[in-house]
Amino acid sequence: MAVECVELKVRRLEEAVVQLIRKAAIELPSDVKEALWKAYKSETSKIGRIQLKAILENITAAESAGKPLCQDTGLISFYVRSRSIDHMAVEKALRRAVVRASRLVPLRPSVVHPLTRLNTGNNTGNRIPNILWMLEDIDHMEVTVVLKGAGSENSSDLYMLPPGEGVKGVKRTVVEAVVKAGGQPCPPTIVNIGLGGTVDLTFKMAKLALIRPLGKRHPEGGIAELERELLRLVNSTGVGPMGLGGRNTALEVKIEYAHGHTASLPLAVNFQCWADRRATLRIHPDGSAEIF
Ligand code: SF4
Repeated sequence: MAVECVELKVRRLEEAVVQLIRKAAIELPSDVKEALWKAYKSETSKIGRIQLKAILENITAAESAGKPLCQDTGLISFYVRSRSIDHMAVEKALRRAVVRASRLVPLRPSVVHPLTRLNTGNNTGNRIPNILWMLEDIDHMEVTVVLKGAGSENSSDLYMLPPGEGVKGVKRTVVEAVVKAGGQPCPPTIVNIGLGGTVDLTFKMAKLALIRPLGKRHPEGGIAELERELLRLVNSTGVGPMGLGGRNTALEVKIEYAHGHTASLPLAVNFQCWADRRATLRIHPDGSAEIF
């Protein structure tokens, strides 16, 4: 009986996550759409406005047709938040949901072996989808899915700054990374930054910044101020929409940090493209669920 009950829960979770992936692939979150509209209205470059208009039309067309808004499915990541997690059962449901969503939505298969380049055909593979487990003191369970394209992932990087460079070094490196990336991450981007910690933690923090909604500042005043300043600096580069020039190079800059070693200052810059595809499933203790 207990086994049947767990299996039923896994099936329900799988079904809900198929819908979650569908929503993320087709419909951008409202904070991203609002930021893109704001960028369009404020863009002064003619070519930049044309690019933003095309992006906005693309978003509407995808929603009306119920089709993915970009041909690149990207790699699928899940962030699972709960007080206690049955890792094996949840992972099984998430993997099965990715396979089914790839067939049903449908989603272009993007996952290959790193050396043979053989495509698995269903957007899963060894350690993919990537799952971040987050044990938190909450009474519900949340699953956030992110679809992240190769253009933005290929532009992301890790920098080991001389600690003496401090804030000045962070600003210089982020601006240089944005200029070097140019149009590759499909700007206007969201620049997600991990600061401090160990090398793996630095990148993990940049991945955590990725799911914070646009416009929601870091709770610490000093970090929030740096986010604002970096956004201003990045938008002064002139890279512009799709790298063709303009004042809207990024929609947002977000930072997560950890304390680190006195002799280190690691900085991860993890770009997300304008197609900031994410959605969240919340399952309440009574079994009811919502997707947003
Ligand atoms: S970087 Fe983003 S918008 Fe550009 S092709 Fe890839 S998924 Fe699409």
